[in-house]
Amino acid sequence: MKIHEYQARKIFRDHGLPVPPERVAGTPAEAEAAARELGGPVVIKAQVHVGGRGKAGGVKLASDPASAREAAGAILGMDIKGLEVGKVLVAPAVDIEHEAYVGIIVDRASQCPVLMVSAAGGVDIEDVARTTPEKIHKAEIDPRYGLLNHQAMGLGFDLYDDLPRVRAAADLFRRLYEAFLASDASLAEVNPLVVTRQGEVLAIDAKMNLDDNALFRHPEFEELRDPASEEPAETMAREKGLSYVKLDGTVGCIVNGAGLAMATMDLIKYYGAEPANFLDIGGSSNPEKVVSAMRIILSDPNVKAILFNIFGGITRCDDVANGIVKALEQLEVDVPIVIRLTGTNEKEALEILRSVNLPATNSMDEVVQKAIELAKGAAR
Ligand code: GDP
Ligand code: MN
Repeated sequence: MKIHEYQARKIFRDHGLPVPPERVAGTPAEAEAAARELGGPVVIKAQVHVGGRGKAGGVKLASDPASAREAAGAILGMDIKGLEVGKVLVAPAVDIEHEAYVGIIVDRASQCPVLMVSAAGGVDIEDVARTTPEKIHKAEIDPRYGLLNHQAMGLGFDLYDDLPRVRAAADLFRRLYEAFLASDASLAEVNPLVVTRQGEVLAIDAKMNLDDNALFRHPEFEELRDPASEEPAETMAREKGLSYVKLDGTVGCIVNGAGLAMATMDLIKYYGAEPANFLDIGGSSNPEKVVSAMRIILSDPNVKAILFNIFGGITRCDDVANGIVKALEQLEVDVPIVIRLTGTNEKEALEILRSVNLPATNSMDEVVQKAIELAKGAAR
């Protein structure tokens, strides 16, 4: 789950990171009042779940409350990478002498959290990683021991050469790791970490992604969810107990089990097309889940064909078949459906599907190729 900068700033601050204060405003008048309350020049920042707001015009400096109002007026309602800005953050502006990047991610290759820093901060870190990877310094964090002092100080020296700054940065890295760990985050990022003209080390941006699979341990985070910033289909899937991730292809997939769903997507790519989604209907799939899955997939206009891939174990093939029949009754299905099913109650399922004239096969290769062929020919 993504959260907004103002929410991540609060978590960071709770863990002792040096983050300037901020206010959140939903109207220009509120932004003006916030600027007056904070005093002095402020920065106004769009609160949307994407990076690169600066480049998109979503970050503006304002010298006084009247210009804060004007800046907020320009940013509120703005479209940034397809997301509408509903709120802005107002914070005291700082005089920047140096901008650095600091981030912690879960790294699959090393199977542990990795702290990354770069003195080339403020800009897109992906660009730095691509063009000048030697400017990114990393430390793998062994979760048994946490971030060790020598690692924190070492990375501090990769950013700065005077000791007070290095110490301040090392302290910030430790606190960032604590925040990351305590929140079950998959990413915690400060970009930029700045040194001000007054010599202070401050985190002036905050980004955090929370691990969906650990949210049950954090009931306090549920209120951080912003449905307006989520893909509507993903919200609906979550409410129906399905794991769904929207992708950009044309072949909609309804599969039982995450592993089989991944294998299905691989096979679609292998045969030269792109999956429209990842969708796992779960182990014991009652017919209602199949109807919800079809509804979600049909809401994506890119979908040109729907592919079912069911391996019946605990999941009963006849349950899925009944779900398909129900969906055909309840929904306007305007794309071809192809079905592969095998395993528990396969015969019963084939019988049910025959009644609605839907053929099924038990070959995964065959059904994937068929789905791609139909998706290519379909007009929708
Ligand atoms: P992002 O583009 O979405 O990552 O938004 P950021 O919060 O990182 O802001 C983008 C850029 O705006 C930063 O890299 C800074 O260069 C600049 N910026 C943000 N806050 C301030 C501030 O208080 N003072 C100054 N001078 N620049 C700022
Ligand atoms: Mn940033």
